[in-house]
Amino acid sequence: MALSVQTLIDRSVRNMGSGIHPVVKEAAIEVIKRAYDEGIYAQISSGYRSNARQQQLYNQGRTTPGNIVTNARPGTSYHNYGLAVDYFLVSSDGSKALWTVNNKWKRVAAIGKSLGFEWGGDWTSFKDYPHLQMTGGLSISQLQRGARPNLSSKAKVGQVKSATAKGFYENGDSGPEVEAFQKRLLDLGYKLPKYGADGNFGDETEDAVRQFQEDREIEVDGFVGPETQAELKKDNKIKVPETNLKRGDSGTEVEDMQAAFASIYFYPEKGAKNNGIDGRYGPKTENCVYRFQKYYGLKKDGKYGPETRGKLKQLV
Ligand SMILES: [Zn+2]
Repeated sequence: MALSVQTLIDRSVRNMGSGIHPVVKEAAIEVIKRAYDEGIYAQISSGYRSNARQQQLYNQGRTTPGNIVTNARPGTSYHNYGLAVDYFLVSSDGSKALWTVNNKWKRVAAIGKSLGFEWGGDWTSFKDYPHLQMTGGLSISQLQRGARPNLSSKAKVGQVKSATAKGFYENGDSGPEVEAFQKRLLDLGYKLPKYGADGNFGDETEDAVRQFQEDREIEVDGFVGPETQAELKKDNKIKVPETNLKRGDSGTEVEDMQAAFASIYFYPEKGAKNNGIDGRYGPKTENCVYRFQKYYGLKKDGKYGPETRGKLKQLV
């Protein structure tokens, strides 16, 4: 049986301990979720550590058996203030801990950093690969004197990407993909009377999705998952060209491509005649492709190639 994200979160919350800072805890859980969305199973092995526990760890390899695991004496680790967590990777069936610092390991670190953590793997002297910490700009000596950081959560930032990665949309998500299917629902005659296609998946949108699912006789769950996405795409006249295109090209395929980008709110020239959809791949269209690539973290070259086409197909 595949390992569920909830199992990873439950184990991690247990291991972080009750002394963990709430913002650190929330961010660590978000790291686990985002990694999971990318097929990476990460788990927290430790979080808050009492000074007594820190002393035990410090003794290891010095006065007690085992390898040295830390250079930090009690009170000198961010763990002692609930501001650090350590992670490791787990095999897909959840049975094995994996400690190899490979690309997946580094990806988890990158996700952590995007959520405000510093990574021990970036340190120059003593590299601590499992370690993620939030200092709030405070040094250990400031913490020892009683100062406490004022941390703010970044867990909600970038949720659009997370929604894209998980492959479905639900109440609470937002972004251009949400706006695109809201517009599609409106085109199909469903009503979003209060907010329209505003890019925010709220209760009104969920009601419309449920109504749509009921009408199409698919599972009524209010989520826009693969089945609902496929149903929404039916009878959709938007065409995604299969050929590579670049600046200087022109013709029907360029026009189809422009229209496809416009359908998810990336226009060659918003507000211009036909929003700049003119079948000519000029600088404005190139910029439109560039913005799309930048938004979705693709290679930014302004050209319409396989990677860009693949992403566009997913969204249209
Ligand atoms: Zn650590």
